[in-house]
Amino acid sequence: MLLLTPGPTPVPEAVRMAMSTPTIHHRTPEFEAIFEQARGYLKKLFDMEEVLMLASSGTGAMEACVLNLCHSKALVVNSGKFGERFGKICEAYGKDFVEIKNEWNTPVDVNTIVELIKNDESIDAIFLQVCESAGGLRHPVEEIAQKVKKIRSNVMIVADGITAIGVEKIDTTHIDALISGSQKALMLPPGLAFIGLNAQALEIIENRGVGYYFNLKTELKNQRKNTTAWTAATTLVIGLVAMCELIDAEGGLDKLYADTAKRAFATNKALQALGFHIYPKVPAKAMSAVLDDDASKIRKILKTKYGVNIAGGQDHIKDTLFRINHMGLVNVYETAWTLNAVELALAELGKRAYDGTANRVFTQEFYQG
Ligand SMILES: *Cc1c(COP(=O)(O)O)cnc(C)c1O
Repeated sequence: MLLLTPGPTPVPEAVRMAMSTPTIHHRTPEFEAIFEQARGYLKKLFDMEEVLMLASSGTGAMEACVLNLCHSKALVVNSGKFGERFGKICEAYGKDFVEIKNEWNTPVDVNTIVELIKNDESIDAIFLQVCESAGGLRHPVEEIAQKVKKIRSNVMIVADGITAIGVEKIDTTHIDALISGSQKALMLPPGLAFIGLNAQALEIIENRGVGYYFNLKTELKNQRKNTTAWTAATTLVIGLVAMCELIDAEGGLDKLYADTAKRAFATNKALQALGFHIYPKVPAKAMSAVLDDDASKIRKILKTKYGVNIAGGQDHIKDTLFRINHMGLVNVYETAWTLNAVELALAELGKRAYDGTANRVFTQEFYQG
């Protein structure tokens, strides 16, 4: 079965092989050398001064950022399930927050944020997704970060890049913290989370250690010495190094970004040529998201007849959205087959006669666009 969901993504064979070696103890020079290598790769990938690894799913890193980087009032952007989560974390900690809520296909308006920052001095951190995976949309994070920093440079810009890191080059000039997780573009099993940090965020963390398991001050102190505060997710860190080596062997990050962008663009063109409506107003490159009444029927046909697992939606668009993943080292023929299967499913549902349009458009756009 081809797994083409926007997380988890399939784990490549070389990575699975690396992770099948015997477990080593985490307090050893052997593991510290691997950890150091992983840190080096992550700093390059995030393009930030420091990157911490946490043994948790991505949400753990979100929680750690709320806890460690917001001390007065948060501004959270909710254009979907994952943005909503930042507000829920604030609630769980009794932290004051304001929320900007939009439809799941609508990126946040930059001016709305600018006005809130201008009018509320107590806001000291903004939390938003780079790509909101619930609807596959891209928020204008870089522009927001730049404008907010001009108004008040000490407002922390915390971006959840879980479906953006390893997908596209993010301009981190004005971003203080950038979150990611192992099971998306990095094609690892779930269980490892990352937080990229700039000098300003590091200063805040070092001046004020909060929390226990997610105390980033404790982690920082340890990880700078290539160890972790608690038992490291050793196997996943070994897998991470193998994955970064694989990305390099496949042509490096720039090639990965370029291929992902091309696949995403060509897929959206092919889906539109089939008559589908691309759901997000500004699509992210991590996935293609289509709103269609037959979305769950299409997914079922793909899974039972054509060996492809794509994702549906969540909450109110659970049954009317389908999402095709573009994150990671996806082969062109995997996306092509998936689109062909979608076209075959439309024919089976009596909605459109099969004529090979999906593959023709996808292939043309990918190779000649
Ligand atoms: C997957 C994802 C998360 C993290 O979810 P976990 O299940 O905790 O790993 C957070 N934000 C976005 C945008 C995601 O796509």
